[in-house]
Amino acid sequence: MSYQKVKGTLDFYGESSRKIRYVENKVRNIVKNYGFEEIITPIFEHTEVFVRSVGDSSDIVNKEMYTFTDKSDRSITLRPEGTAAVARCFVENKLYSTPEVKKYFYCGPMFRYERPQAGRYRQFNQFGIEVFGDSSPFLDTEVIVSAYRVFKALGIENIKLKINTIGDFKSRQDYAIALHDYFEKHLDSLCSDCKNRYEKNPMRILDCKVDRNSEVLLNAPKIKDFLTDESKEYFNKILKSLDVLKIPYETDESLVRGLDYYTDTVFEFVISGNSELNGLAICAGGKYAELIKGFGGPDIPGVGYAFGLERIVSVMEKNSLFPNLVNAVDVVIISLDEDSKIESLKIANELRDLGFNIDLDYKNFSFKPQFKLADRDKCKYIMIIGEEERKSGIYTIKDVLNKTEDKLSYDEIVKKLYN
Ligand code: AMP
Repeated sequence: MSYQKVKGTLDFYGESSRKIRYVENKVRNIVKNYGFEEIITPIFEHTEVFVRSVGDSSDIVNKEMYTFTDKSDRSITLRPEGTAAVARCFVENKLYSTPEVKKYFYCGPMFRYERPQAGRYRQFNQFGIEVFGDSSPFLDTEVIVSAYRVFKALGIENIKLKINTIGDFKSRQDYAIALHDYFEKHLDSLCSDCKNRYEKNPMRILDCKVDRNSEVLLNAPKIKDFLTDESKEYFNKILKSLDVLKIPYETDESLVRGLDYYTDTVFEFVISGNSELNGLAICAGGKYAELIKGFGGPDIPGVGYAFGLERIVSVMEKNSLFPNLVNAVDVVIISLDEDSKIESLKIANELRDLGFNIDLDYKNFSFKPQFKLADRDKCKYIMIIGEEERKSGIYTIKDVLNKTEDKLSYDEIVKKLYN
């Protein structure tokens, strides 16, 4: 039997693992700039956490969750997204008990049983942020701008910010009734999933991957005609502040997002250009007024987003945006006999303590294989230890780039490395 990874999953090693960690670290640094703190929740939760928050009319809950019964007959689900678990943790640990706005970020694998294709996997990594405790269009703007700055920092240009409002509770209620009445007349032309959505949550029909561009959907009532004055004003303030900050955006009435918990602001950063990733969202988020209350917490709003790290890596690869990510080796130590090998272990660790990257060979005593290692590592210096060097404490050190050679004491070598 040959063992293979599960369909829709990826292995990361060598360059690919360096790339995904490079992106993660860049995002970490930027969101820390904004005062976000890491929150780490389990990779699995009680199934109800996702059903309750993501919504039982969503594709995620209906078709995509990895759900299993554990040995105590509990229904458990591998997290398909991050917000629900963070909100559950926020409420369970009463993190709302102090009044300040709470800003969290998380990073880790998510699991969805989707049809694997370019940029769509069954296990993928999300980096997300959540802010709890305040409702202000300017907070939403700040959140959107933080995502925009991540793309700037990574050098990604070919993306478009799409933004919409799906209104507050009252707007959504009125809109849902209008959609219900409208789709009642067009039920026959909807796909079977949409017929289901019609019963549970007609707004979800607008998000359908099958019916998306059909006449019926294009002519459906628009949320903008049902917005309360407060919702309109809220949205206009966001757009105004984005204009002032010179963040380019497109308003998109068809954007409703696939999850149930959003209210008012929804947005996506979408990949543009001529690749197979064109049109895929790379980051998506919005505001959610009701989620914390839904978990039994106080009436506290939240806003957040999540990036898909694999999609960011793909876009960066297509546009050659990665710097050289090889972990540069400073020194390779070559040793010519057993005692020198032991001494090289000691010196290697002393130099590592000082912050230098050191590599060495553990088996060979001849030059050839050890020079090969130095060549492979593309190290800056080669240090040579033989019987003579051990006894005198004066080592041969070669500067690989400049092709020079010196005889130096350990202290002099350290000085040289610092220069
Ligand atoms: P969502 O939680 O669906 O709003 O997704 C947020 C982000 O996660 C998307 O914009 C994508 O970048 C990424 N994402 C979602 N689903 C997948 C998937 N199946 N494979 C890879 N990335 C995904």
